[in-house]
Order: sequence, then structure tokens, then C-alpha cells
Amino acid sequence: MYWERVTEEIFVFTSDRYALVNSVAVLTEEGVVVVDALPFPDEARQIAAFLDARGRGRFHSLILTHYHMDHVYGLFAFPDHLDVFAHELCRQKLLEVGELSLAEARKADPVFDEVRLRFPTITFTTGEMVVDAGDTTLRLIHMPGHTADNIGVFLEQERILFTGDSVMAIPIIADGDWRQELETLQRIKDLAPETIVQGHGEVILRGEIKTVLDRYIKYLKCVEDQARKVLKKGAARDTIWEIPLEACGLERVPLGIASHQLHVANIMAVYDTLKAEQAER
Ligand SMILES: [Zn+2]
Repeated sequence: MYWERVTEEIFVFTSDRYALVNSVAVLTEEGVVVVDALPFPDEARQIAAFLDARGRGRFHSLILTHYHMDHVYGLFAFPDHLDVFAHELCRQKLLEVGELSLAEARKADPVFDEVRLRFPTITFTTGEMVVDAGDTTLRLIHMPGHTADNIGVFLEQERILFTGDSVMAIPIIADGDWRQELETLQRIKDLAPETIVQGHGEVILRGEIKTVLDRYIKYLKCVEDQARKVLKKGAARDTIWEIPLEACGLERVPLGIASHQLHVANIMAVYDTLKAEQAER
């Protein structure tokens, strides 16, 4: 695990053991606000101890961007009394699949034995919710696409946006909806943040933001085109494996996860949706 500072009050922690997933901390007058936690217990405990010292023992709350385990598990390392903010769909999804996926993770690696799931305690179903932490106001904004429950956290004054997984080096929509993701990426462009802390990988700075978002939008449109082509040709679903990532303008990314597999899963997800929609007509 390594960390960097984005401003005097904002820290980003990154796991070098799982897909460069990020956890963010904001030091406020009212205590530390933590957005997502890393999956491994030792990393999470290390971050909690570090922030406990920095924030002089005061935490304000926890925020969860979405229900995926690499963002959820480490929350157990923070004080029990803290509220967990999230979208209502996140709470429902965790209640539905959380314990089961944790049991599977434990089977694969006993290091997860000490994880206890934390469930959201304050949720919203409308487009937005504001969390007030003294001098800092955090706007929680529904940004579905990667998953239905994904939210972003916008610090309006600083114009810093934590996107959860709605922005990542390869947009991943196999567990979500690419049309929603396209809307979300446009929404992020309209918000005009000056800094983006994405769910995985490095911080995106002012001069890069528009280029990066445009590349992801183009990528998703290409994924849709590729899926339509396979469908139109009546080719076998498995031929999707032959479509390289580069065909959609992205390069393999050093996230430590298999880029091509993710890319194929994206096209297959779109293909399946389009095919189902065709059958309905
Ligand atoms: Zn995710």
C-alpha cells in the first residue's frame, strides 16, 4: 500500500496488491471522512491507524461508492459507531450478496477471515445527498453505469471529484449498464472537476480530465458498435474474444488485472443486452 496527498486535507491510499484500488480520506473540522477502504485487512488497519493519528482520534463518517468487495471489506477497521453513507441500492446489494461473496473470498484466502461486513446506515434514493462536515461539504451524486449503485463524492469548493468506479483505466460495465455509464461520464464532464480521484489507478489532473473522459466515452461507444457488428453478422458470441482492446482506442493498463478479459466481458455484456432487446421486439 502507498499513499499520496492531493491537497493539505486529502489523502489517497492505493493498494499495490489489488488492482490499484483507492481509498480516500478528507480531514475536516468535524473529523476524518473516509471514502471506500482497501480490501486487505492489514492495509485497512494501517490506514485507520494513520488517520487516527492525523485526525487526532476524530472520525466523522464513512462513505461507500459502491458494493464491490475491493471497496467495502476494509471498512471494518474503522470505529464501529461511524455512519456509513451510500446509495440505497448499495445497501440492498450488500444485504443480498455481501455475506456470500465474503464467504467465497475467505475460502480463497483466509486473510479475509477477520473482515466483518459494514452495511450502509444512511442512504439516499434521489440523485444526490449532501454530507456536512463543518468546513467541508461533500456532495454525494448518483453515478450509475459501472454498477447501478455507484456514487461520486464531489468537494465543490476544491472541485475534486472521487468517482468510485465510474472512472477507471478501462471502463467496466459488465456488472452494470453502458448506457448509464455514458450518461455518467457526460455528467462528470459537465461537473467540470479540476481533479479526479478514480476508483483504481492514479489521480487525474486538470489538464488531462477532458481527454481522459472523452477517451472513455469513445471506448464505450466502440464497445457498443463491436457488439452490434457481431450480432448483425450472426457470428458466434465467442468471436468477441478476437476483438482487441486497441480496436477501441485503449491500451492495456497496468492495473494488475487482465485488460483483455475485462474488455471482452464488456462487449459480451452489451451483446447480451442488445440480443435480449432484439428478442423482445
Ligand atoms: Zn467496482
